[in-house]
Amino acid sequence: MAFYITTPIRFKCTQCSQCCYGGKYAYVRANDDEIKAIVDYLQIDKNQFTEKYLIKLVDHGYGIKMKTSQTARLTGKKGHCMLLNNKGKCSVYPVRPIQCRTYPFWPEILSSEQYWNDEVTRCEGINQGEVIDVDYIEQQKALSFAAEVIINK
Ligand code: SF4
Repeated sequence: MAFYITTPIRFKCTQCSQCCYGGKYAYVRANDDEIKAIVDYLQIDKNQFTEKYLIKLVDHGYGIKMKTSQTARLTGKKGHCMLLNNKGKCSVYPVRPIQCRTYPFWPEILSSEQYWNDEVTRCEGINQGEVIDVDYIEQQKALSFAAEVIINK
């Protein structure tokens, strides 16, 4: 049984944007529909967008690249999603991919209470705010899982 069924979990997003940061090999998964939605939203040429922002993944689908500034490189900081604007906010928020929408309710983070609590080092919203309804958690987790499966099919 999933731990959050017997141990209520709390979450409140503070919009700190730390979930948009990742390590050297990180990327944000996006399928064809999600890329189309972003391209339409930004009103940018799809080929230009693909060349500048995307990496083709080995299995299937695309990843939105992480950007590491010179300062970040020198100070060892993590890169951030290329779609963060210069105020550190998501520039495609209304059409952000499911990977972003469902965070932190990803199957791997919810696979144990320890993984959930460990994720606090990245997400300051974990264990803050109101208790989250189990049905909502399950729905988000299923969406995240389905997106991964579709991309990997
Ligand atoms: S890291 Fe957590 S609190 Fe910060 S923006 Fe992402 S989901 Fe919200």
